[in-house]
Amino acid sequence: MPASTWVSRRTIVIEDLNVAGMVKNRRLARHVADASFGELRRQLEYKSAWHGGRVIVADRWFASSKKCSGCGAVKAKLPLSERTYACASCGMVADRDLNAALNLAEYGNRQIAGSGPEIPNGRGADRKTPSGVQVAVKRQPGTATAGKTGTAAPQGTAAA
Ligand SMILES: [Zn+2]
Repeated sequence: MPASTWVSRRTIVIEDLNVAGMVKNRRLARHVADASFGELRRQLEYKSAWHGGRVIVADRWFASSKKCSGCGAVKAKLPLSERTYACASCGMVADRDLNAALNLAEYGNRQIAGSGPEIPNGRGADRKTPSGVQVAVKRQPGTATAGKTGTAAPQGTAAA
């Protein structure tokens, strides 16, 4: 299978961040400026379009960091200093950014399941381990949600 075909089935999930609010936070401002989210999103969207892929944007209220990717429990608080996610409900322990990326990938899968008629309803909804999901994590120490990227699973063999 040519690489371009593989790419064309990919879905990228990014997070709509409250950039204005983050810039007001002195600790985050420099990281936010460095990351240039708007430009990143613009490039992801047009390059995905070239390859027939899609970019799904999770809204800024999606609790990607505070949610347990194992059981779905949501923490009330998760300080920036906690780099490891430890779930009080199911005991899962994972790198903070990996946990968030898994949540974003699952978010993307739900969006696809909800909008794509070629995907049976509920596909992937009850999978605790999203085995078909590849996740890319870009580490940005010191930032709450910056730089997280989840890559959702292919749309299924029936997809064009
Ligand atoms: Zn859990």
